[in-house]
Amino acid sequence: MSVSADAIRRLAARHGFDACGISRVVLRPTFLARYAAWVSKSYFGTMGWMAEPSRLARRCRPESMLEGAQSVISVAMRHSPPVYGLQEALRAQGRGIIAAYAQGMDYHEIMKKRLKAFAASLDGLLGRHDQRVYVDTAPVLEHAFAEQSGLAWQGKHSLNLSRSFGSWFLLGEIFTTAKLPADEPARAHCGSCTACMDICPTGAIIHPFVVDARRCIAYLTIEYKGMIAHELRPRFGNRIYGCDDCQMVCPWNGKLPALKGEDPLQPQGENCLPDLASLLRLNEAGFRARFRKSPIRRTGRAAFLRNVCIALGNQRQAQALDALLGALADSEPLVRAHAAWAIGRLHVPAGTRSRLLGRALRREQNDDVRREIQHALEHLD
Ligand code: SF4
Ligand code: SF4
Repeated sequence: MSVSADAIRRLAARHGFDACGISRVVLRPTFLARYAAWVSKSYFGTMGWMAEPSRLARRCRPESMLEGAQSVISVAMRHSPPVYGLQEALRAQGRGIIAAYAQGMDYHEIMKKRLKAFAASLDGLLGRHDQRVYVDTAPVLEHAFAEQSGLAWQGKHSLNLSRSFGSWFLLGEIFTTAKLPADEPARAHCGSCTACMDICPTGAIIHPFVVDARRCIAYLTIEYKGMIAHELRPRFGNRIYGCDDCQMVCPWNGKLPALKGEDPLQPQGENCLPDLASLLRLNEAGFRARFRKSPIRRTGRAAFLRNVCIALGNQRQAQALDALLGALADSEPLVRAHAAWAIGRLHVPAGTRSRLLGRALRREQNDDVRREIQHALEHLD
């Protein structure tokens, strides 16, 4: 059955997507070469699944994801940008920054529901065909498909962006065995701009279009579950889940059209610059209840509270001492270790910090935490 791209776009819009592009399932060699080069440098950090041979092969041969696949429909679902300015958020004492997309419901659930409904409607339009929907969790090079389908180009910060609606959106894909009219690939419009590279607090954008995840705060605060390198901790500022800096400075995000209808991710007020000390007091049950429907739940309490400790350590406020002392007695070594580092930096008399950390050292059994306490004691200023 011959179906126009416009008919598919109209259907996508009816299912709550702001834009839609169509591409062949076979990715252009330039996308594959870019990805292979990134993997070969180990820029994926602990996301070992990205280099795992069978998953790598599937990423590079997307046609193997669905037998007989011919086309990929990429969709974009926009959400609200942060309601505050970057400097205002970085200066918000006692408050932490959560990435804009994560201040409300978990987008995976919403996007998947919409994609499934869209796919069901496509059945009526396309006739007999097989299809599969993907949202971020499968080995699909979604950024490459978004560019190949003309939806949005990959900027120097590696995220996709569009001249008409910027970069505050999330991607999803439908693979289908139907042969659909493919769109022209998106053309890049970064030009000589380097705003995202210049603002990046950790220098994670090591070349235009190449992000070393091991230095990226978004990866480190969300995906990475271990100890954060001492050298990087001060650069986190008060970012506790993700990082929006490179998007906030992008000129293409300057003046955006209003969202059509309600924001699908509806930021919750309590997640807009939340109180750090209160977050640090969440026990496991409290954490699960607070982030029950949020993507933050996927990161887990230990890594999230690790991030909160770092933010408090960077703000250095004496008022954080009580909450950090609670964290220094937490059941999770990861939390205790970063609490020790943070206490070592507070604007509290050195004698007091030394006494409190020394007491913790005497009772601590975990070697990693002991090392952190000792490091904090050696660096009291
Ligand atoms: S998310 Fe933050 S740390 Fe990562 S590349 Fe962008 S500005 Fe840099
Ligand atoms: S900030 Fe500039 S270089 Fe970075 S993605 Fe936006 S336009 Fe491209």
